[in-house]
Amino acid sequence: MSIKELDKKYIANTYARFPIEIVRGEGSKLYDDAGKEYIDMGTGIGVSVFGVGDKEWIEAVTEQLTTLQHTSNLYYSSPCVKLAEILCEKTGAKKVFFSNSGAEANECAIKAARKYAAEKKGAEYYNIITLNNSFHGRTITTLAATGQESFHKDFLPLTDGFLYADAGDIEGIKHLVNDNKVAAIMFEVVQGEGGVVPLDKAFVEEVKALCEKEDILLVVDEVQTGNGRTGALYGYMKYGINPDIVSTAKGIGGGLPLGATMFFEKTENVYTPGTHGSTFGGNPVSCAGAYSIIKRLDDAFLKSVEEKHDYIINELGNAEGVNGITGLGLMLGIETKKDVNEVLKYCQENGVLPIKAKNKLRLLPPLNISFEDLEKAVGVIKNALREEI
Ligand SMILES: *Cc1c(COP(=O)(O)O)cnc(C)c1O
Repeated sequence: MSIKELDKKYIANTYARFPIEIVRGEGSKLYDDAGKEYIDMGTGIGVSVFGVGDKEWIEAVTEQLTTLQHTSNLYYSSPCVKLAEILCEKTGAKKVFFSNSGAEANECAIKAARKYAAEKKGAEYYNIITLNNSFHGRTITTLAATGQESFHKDFLPLTDGFLYADAGDIEGIKHLVNDNKVAAIMFEVVQGEGGVVPLDKAFVEEVKALCEKEDILLVVDEVQTGNGRTGALYGYMKYGINPDIVSTAKGIGGGLPLGATMFFEKTENVYTPGTHGSTFGGNPVSCAGAYSIIKRLDDAFLKSVEEKHDYIINELGNAEGVNGITGLGLMLGIETKKDVNEVLKYCQENGVLPIKAKNKLRLLPPLNISFEDLEKAVGVIKNALREEI
């Protein structure tokens, strides 16, 4: 049986896969089972920050893998502490909790927000405001946080206590805060799965001010926007705000599963022994790899991300077949005149692998992609967008 038939027979039917089997890669290049070469413009879904087979990451991971693969959270672990330390140094966070995925990082944030509010204001302050068109994960609670009804269908009842407002609607949020007992407001600074839609800076500042005034926690979901993706170490830094909790995953592990929830001043002491935990969370191999990633995301590197952003915008911003481009850094959504599925198919056939977000073509290339590969990929995308093909 072919891989396609075996997959259909044995794998739970949750994914509409593209008809490609990736078997290996090198940097920004991916190769399928027939040896065909592709330029990677998706990095999984914003995961392989430094591409495939990054030397420094491989060394860090291999060294830890051949030393100690797992130690439970019953014992101290140096890779985990080292990663937490560099994250705190670079963000101003006070403490970090490690898990294995974005959904878990958000669960941890949501639990912390409820616990903070329960202790400070009372257990009835359990509501969390999120935005319509957001995406926060697939567990029953993070689905509840996800402000898109299409994801909720057939899974009701979801976790209680989530309220939704439109991005940009500060008055709507103020009404929700007045009419309900609210623990936190949670958003992505760029709604990734929602179509690569950045929030308005003034709106973000107003939400921050409201949170300060009402002692409501500001939780930023940086699962996709984090770890250099937007051209800042974390996307909130571009908005000049100080969150109370930041969750991240995807890119932080450089390809291995890892989630992190960062606690700032107000929230650093919310968790106490026994109130949260994870068997695999903070796996030493994942953490050793993540340290080698975070260490390299310095100002000079982030500037190179912005240069690649500018290059893409210059080349594709006014290109034929483009209605507009949204996003920050190397997290971009192209609104295509043609059906995005046709554009994607052309790209795949011609050796370039972007992904989709809603009806947009989504670009999430390795942050260290060479200009040579980027030029090639942009050339193919330009042709794909053209009406007459
Ligand atoms: C991908 C994503 C998640 C979920 O992450 P998983 O690792 O798939 O659980 C949550 N929030 C945002 C913003 C995401 O992009």
